[in-house]
Amino acid sequence: MTCVFCGIPMQKRVLENEHAFAFFDLYPVQKGHLLIVPKQHRETYFDATEQEIMAIHDLLHKGKQLIEESYQPDGFNIGVNVGEYGGQTVMHLHVHLIPRYKGDIDDPRGGIRKAIPNLVPYP
Ligand code: 5GP
Ligand code: ZN
Repeated sequence: MTCVFCGIPMQKRVLENEHAFAFFDLYPVQKGHLLIVPKQHRETYFDATEQEIMAIHDLLHKGKQLIEESYQPDGFNIGVNVGEYGGQTVMHLHVHLIPRYKGDIDDPRGGIRKAIPNLVPYP
């Protein structure tokens, strides 16, 4: 089966190190939404090697810098969807680095906690 993230062309890879690369999300949640993936196809976060996790970690920091230079965000969300029921739609491990902007939603408090219905109210 072909994998869309294995097929991301070189010219779209805005950051790269030995084991990972980054590219902009085609359907961004916010402007500057970056995805960071291991070069080797791994299905989920928990399938990655420690080396790959370190490489992704390195690109999270470089991605933050890149986004700050281009878009001047006011905050970030970092997220990984794991498995179909965790919301993962592309089965090649990717970490979302999503810049956030003052005023992009009415009440930002709670961040990624708002992605799923709350079991109990958050004080
Ligand atoms: P998931 O829901 O699996 O965590 O996220 C998959 C992400 O990949 C989504 O944010 C979606 O917009 C993005 N995406 C899907 N197909 C493509 C593609 O062909 N190119 C790029 N750059 N992003 C994609
Ligand atoms: Zn892949």
